[in-house]
Amino acid sequence: MMKEVKCTIIQDVLPLYIDEVVSQDTKEMVDQHLQHCEVCQKVYEKMKRKLYIPAENKASIFKKINKKMRKKKVIISMVSVFATAIILFGAFAYVFYYERVIPYSDDLMRIESQNDNQLVSRYFGESYAGVNLTHPMPLEINGEKKNVSFIYYTETIADSPTRMLINNEKNLNEQEYIFELPESEKIDAVYYADFDVEKITSEKDSWDSVVKRAVLIWEK
Ligand SMILES: [Zn+2]
Repeated sequence: MMKEVKCTIIQDVLPLYIDEVVSQDTKEMVDQHLQHCEVCQKVYEKMKRKLYIPAENKASIFKKINKKMRKKKVIISMVSVFATAIILFGAFAYVFYYERVIPYSDDLMRIESQNDNQLVSRYFGESYAGVNLTHPMPLEINGEKKNVSFIYYTETIADSPTRMLINNEKNLNEQEYIFELPESEKIDAVYYADFDVEKITSEKDSWDSVVKRAVLIWEK
């Protein structure tokens, strides 16, 4: 019979176990424990899934990872250098390029009419990654024909309404995000909705169903 190892001990070594820097004996001990302990299994799954998201900027990702690696005195083989490069690239891509739709909020964005018929979109967040919008298109909404434009803003971790991680030198308060909507004079209504033009052209989605899940943010 194998002597029971305390859960606290297992959980202490889990980070090292996940990074595969434990001795063979420790590895076997953890393996065995995980097979019959559900509590530690859950802790293990959680730890494994945790994604490191840098709080400052991209330079700090490298610094932090380097520091962590020095601490563990890992002998870096070519394989792990390669793996690290992939992880770094993944984290980098995730932070800077993975765009998500910013949910609509009326204190974050607004459509306003300026100088006669020109419509502008104003954004009050600290930053955003991109904005997608359409030219006005005729749609039937509740039996009424309207020229509708759709719009949505996207964020990345680096560029989001509440964070400005890269361009710290920019004065946020003076920053104003505003742009003119194309063919403003034709627009009857502006809707905020996540839309995918590719899906619509391939008929997996339609503007009629986009408008149903959209938020009306401006109307003539
Ligand atoms: Zn346990």
